[in-house]
Amino acid sequence: SEPLLEVTDLKKHFAIRKNQTLKAVDGVSFAIKKGEMLGLVGESGCGKSTLGRTILRLYERTSGSVKFKGTDVHKTGQKQAKTLNRSMQMIFQDPYASLNPRSVVMDIIAEGIDIHQLYTGSRRKEKVYELLQTVGLGAEHANRYPHEFSGGQRQRIGIARALAVDPEFIVADEPISALDVSIQEQIVNLLRKLQREKGLTFLFIAHDLSMVRHISDRIGVMYLGKLVELTTSEALYKNPLHPYTEALLSAIPIPDPDLEDKREQILLKGEIPSPLSPPSGCVFRTRCPKAMERCALIEPQMLEYQPGHFAACHLYEGTTPKHGEAAATHG
Ligand code: SF4
Ligand code: MG
Repeated sequence: SEPLLEVTDLKKHFAIRKNQTLKAVDGVSFAIKKGEMLGLVGESGCGKSTLGRTILRLYERTSGSVKFKGTDVHKTGQKQAKTLNRSMQMIFQDPYASLNPRSVVMDIIAEGIDIHQLYTGSRRKEKVYELLQTVGLGAEHANRYPHEFSGGQRQRIGIARALAVDPEFIVADEPISALDVSIQEQIVNLLRKLQREKGLTFLFIAHDLSMVRHISDRIGVMYLGKLVELTTSEALYKNPLHPYTEALLSAIPIPDPDLEDKREQILLKGEIPSPLSPPSGCVFRTRCPKAMERCALIEPQMLEYQPGHFAACHLYEGTTPKHGEAAATHG
């Protein structure tokens, strides 16, 4: 079946100064199936948020394409763009910054309803009450202001606002990173519930693999503007291929006796290079414990080394991928 979202060789470059280009997203390809939760991880500055925002057209792309149900989202007319604005929504890391402090929750949640003129009067009110219920807040909260809520409650309001226009696809950009650990799980459970009950499709962005492990069907790992590994959550944890993924995994404690002995912490040397001057060849080579000569010369392509398991690393190239080609979009 057709993927809901198909991203092909997407690039988002920013012109910084004369002759300087920041390649925030540099040739990323993947697809998301309807009803799937795709986790996207990587250190801050690796381009995850830029990727999410370019998919939602908050940024114009530099090249490549984003197709939603077969439609190139960056090439639409006004009417199509309006429909897409409803279908694709965003949940932000800091809900407080994105909630108007002078509006009551009723109006904040109804923002999209008003813009798209979906309901008015009592039907509008009922819809907001319903949404408050869905995200685990009572209708009695409708006339309160954002500052009267805790961080977790604000994130629930942000989620209700995103749901108000009945979207099909949501980019959640680090929705739990700013919350207390005890609250994080509640929000994760809420998103999982929405995925299951409403058939919603998510791109769930996080800086930490431990945050996406239990929520994602598949996980993509980004480094310096590139997607370097993509596979199911299970395969990524049990059999990571890319040395960067191995290092990320080794940094989180895993209460799994099967894996405990096998896993030693891998400390990466140095800092992430500036995206203004990424290394030649493999972007990870300056920190890779397994770098070889060819890693400086040739950029590794995303190849499918096991069914549905893609990685961009020269280490595996002798092992002739089953399906050949950079076919990441068909995962
Ligand atoms: Fe390391 Fe080379 Fe693989 Fe890059 S291509 S991750 S430098 S082994
Ligand atoms: Mg970010």
